[in-house]
Amino acid sequence: MTVWDALIGQDSAVDTLRAAAQAGADIAAGRPVPPGAMTHAWLFTGPAGSGRSVAARAFAAALQCDRRDQLGCGECAQCRTVAARTHPDVRSVVPDGLSIGVELMRSVVGLSARRPSLGRWQVVLIEDADRLTEQASNALLKAVEEPPARSVFLLCAPSLHPDDVSLTIRSRCRLVPLRTPPADAVASVLVADGVDAESAEWAAAAGHGHVGRSRRLARDADARARRAEVLAIPASLTSLGACLDAADHLVGAAEGEAAALSAELDAGETEALQVALGAGGTGRGVAATVRGTAGLLRDLEKRQRSRATRTQRDALDRALVDLAAFYRDVLLEHAHSPVARAHPDFADDVVAVAQRVDPAGALRCMDAVLACREALDLNVKPRIAVEAMTAELRLPGD
Ligand SMILES: [Zn+2]
Repeated sequence: MTVWDALIGQDSAVDTLRAAAQAGADIAAGRPVPPGAMTHAWLFTGPAGSGRSVAARAFAAALQCDRRDQLGCGECAQCRTVAARTHPDVRSVVPDGLSIGVELMRSVVGLSARRPSLGRWQVVLIEDADRLTEQASNALLKAVEEPPARSVFLLCAPSLHPDDVSLTIRSRCRLVPLRTPPADAVASVLVADGVDAESAEWAAAAGHGHVGRSRRLARDADARARRAEVLAIPASLTSLGACLDAADHLVGAAEGEAAALSAELDAGETEALQVALGAGGTGRGVAATVRGTAGLLRDLEKRQRSRATRTQRDALDRALVDLAAFYRDVLLEHAHSPVARAHPDFADDVVAVAQRVDPAGALRCMDAVLACREALDLNVKPRIAVEAMTAELRLPGD
């Protein structure tokens, strides 16, 4: 498997990155390349689940890969250590809590000016560039404006909106827009993973272009049950008590999903890191590496904590996207529209809610769901934001 195989439905981005990796190898070998063939700063954007950080990491591996005939082979020592996050010339910048501060950014920028030790490039990968503080962003801008000869900055952010990435940084970066992968591409990946065709098709549609989510829906009965719980909410909101119960369920389901996902990822990563570090080894040099090992494990734990916070928000956000799509289905029902429903398996509930909520009411419900997403973005406590929303979604007439 090459590093590119993990990118689903992103052919044009893969072409761009492959060509740039080739140019990068040529530059390192002293061969001439056309102007602009390789760039020092890249910005990967796309909706959650489109694979921004997967694309950036694949590119980082291809920039260092030993296989000149197949850059990003996924098998050489360079590709493997980039994947395990132990490559000395690929530095990940991870938010401490919810933001990336200026001190951290300054030190990373300083390190990026060194010559690469094993690879061809000093790569700095910022998976959450939307979490840079303004000062950190300015520190990065200086490096991006006058990059050291062998430095490459890979930034990932949800969108090009100035709230996500400052205009000046954006103007210095080559853009790699990733799209929401089409359902048939997601379905064929699931089939290749061993999921039967019918389940794969259903999970691809129900995941709304989020590959990881579709994979969990296909494989994990708990994930399917959590989705069903979320989608059963609109028809159940017949009293204030029911609204509060529903809020409790939503927040609880997000916590449950995040915990399951984090446990799975954490265990895999810790093991990969220990294998990469030769866990259990004895002999010369062990004492020297132990100090480095502790640092790497600390970094990993920090990254995992930060991810747990993000994962819980993402899980809740996906539940809200499912809910908004439910009310969209209600509107389509009112309009007798032939447009495909987002949740065909909840058609009965959609009809039941449409009988009690008129089109204007359905629009108000969508607004309430979107307002809840915005509140969560602004760091309002999940339970408070969700309770306010479910109260708004209460069915009329009770
Ligand atoms: Zn390789």
